[in-house]
Amino acid sequence: MEERSVDVAVIGSGTAGLNAIGQIRRTGKSFVLINGGEPGTTCARVGCMPAKAMIQVAEDYYRRMQLGKYGVDGYRALTLDGKKVMEHVRDLRDTFVDRVLSNSTDNMPPDRFIQDYARFLEPTLLEVAGQRIRAERVVIATGSRPLVPKAWRAFGKRILTTDDLFELEDLPTSLAVIGLGTIGIELGQNLHRLGVEVTGFDQLTAIAGTQDPEVSASAIDLMGKEFPIHLGEAARIAEASDKLSVTAGEHSVLVDQVLCSIGRVPNVEKLGLENLGVDLDTRGLPDYDPNTMQVGNLPVFLAGDVTNERPILHEAGNEGKIAGYNAAHDQVTAFRRKTPLLINFCSPNICAVGQRWNDLDQTTTAVGQIRMAPVGRALIMNENKGTLRVYADQHSGLVLGAEMIAPKGENLAHLLCWCIEQELTVGQLLRMPFYHPVIEEALQAALYDLYSKVETKNEGPPELTSITHQQLKNV
Ligand SMILES: Cc1cc2nc3c(=O)[nH]c(=O)nc-3n(C[C@H](O)[C@H](O)[C@H](O)COP(=O)(O)OP(=O)(O)OC[C@H]3O[C@@H](n4cnc5c(N)ncnc54)[C@H](O)[C@@H]3O)c2cc1C
Repeated sequence: MEERSVDVAVIGSGTAGLNAIGQIRRTGKSFVLINGGEPGTTCARVGCMPAKAMIQVAEDYYRRMQLGKYGVDGYRALTLDGKKVMEHVRDLRDTFVDRVLSNSTDNMPPDRFIQDYARFLEPTLLEVAGQRIRAERVVIATGSRPLVPKAWRAFGKRILTTDDLFELEDLPTSLAVIGLGTIGIELGQNLHRLGVEVTGFDQLTAIAGTQDPEVSASAIDLMGKEFPIHLGEAARIAEASDKLSVTAGEHSVLVDQVLCSIGRVPNVEKLGLENLGVDLDTRGLPDYDPNTMQVGNLPVFLAGDVTNERPILHEAGNEGKIAGYNAAHDQVTAFRRKTPLLINFCSPNICAVGQRWNDLDQTTTAVGQIRMAPVGRALIMNENKGTLRVYADQHSGLVLGAEMIAPKGENLAHLLCWCIEQELTVGQLLRMPFYHPVIEEALQAALYDLYSKVETKNEGPPELTSITHQQLKNV
């Protein structure tokens, strides 16, 4: 069998793998990129981008319900062509995939980009496509795939995952969404808004990964008003003539199809990780350092969703950069991880920033909050629903984190995330300008509430920063 040597082998040409390659290229080291399965990244093919394309259509269509209030006639007569919706989603999806491919693997020669599944024979020896590759260092960026219980696979194409949802020719008439985490809630709500009869199930008692009890209750309340949600019991599926019956406790529904969104599993089973010579956990993954992405002391690095730790795009990209940088340098460098930021594009957005509720020391944490109902801009948008809660260290006022279900939460969460990165206090945030009337005024109100509960205060009025005559002269 042919054997060749490279400086770095990267397994997986998703977001993490491509970011790793970007770092390796900069150093001029030789590399090979290996991808089994469809190239084009999970994000563009079956993830972020087609999901957001579908959500945009759903939001636009759902917005028609507001039009009667402004005296726009005929909105009730508007209809939606499910086939065209799916075509539109796929068109956009194809554009994104083409863009990824043309910027990455399309121009790579076949000896640099191998399309097959790689397998470790040793920590630095891979077998792929009938050849052996000896790499000084290896990056594993093989991503994850939807988890479907074995028993449910017997229902064939009636069990959908995000890998096949966007391939549907038409929207289903009725659908059970089992698993109401980020993906289930985001897609469930929007399929409902597109006219699909959606019923949601989750064995947990919270949805969309919320932890803060107030936000969690608000999220369940708001989502539950749009489509039925059954929580706290595992759902079972059974054949019911030409339908599927989905049952959880006393709740049962007949549906055409089920969207199974109960989680994702790392793509490791084809990799031969047992040949790394280190312990593997129950998911088949080795232990690694999240600041270097290195596996033990091996010249092997993990990146992206394969770790299942921070399964979101910008983290996959960052981990790819960390792993790629370290794989291309002799010295392994530890990098600071970014402030956690989670955004669920359901409406209102559900977001979490910084420290999560379950990790906070409740005895030293102050919480400020605002309900969206009276927020002027939210009222104008007719989206004045939700709750925003911000956490700070009670003594210093240092902002620690936040959780929210709020209109334009994606923007509020970013603002807060950047402030936490800058290690700002609630007093410093209040000194920032807030325009009127904007949704950020909701954040301002939550910050005032928080400010009243922390010990460290600004001098004088909290919003104002004093300046000396000398400083004025220097301005
Ligand atoms: C429906 C959905 C919506 C999402 N929405 C968002 C969002 O709005 N925002 C956000 O930040 N994140 C979102 N995500 C998550 C985001 O898409 C992922 O975090 C990101 O795409 C992961 O990138 P990756 O490089 O780790 O994996 P991938 O892009 O999956 O790349 C892994 C590659 O490795 C290949 N591979 C697997 N095994 C092998 C092997 N043995 N040998 C060689 N190659 C192999 C795979 O075929 C694949 O091409 C969403 C995900 C889904 C599913």
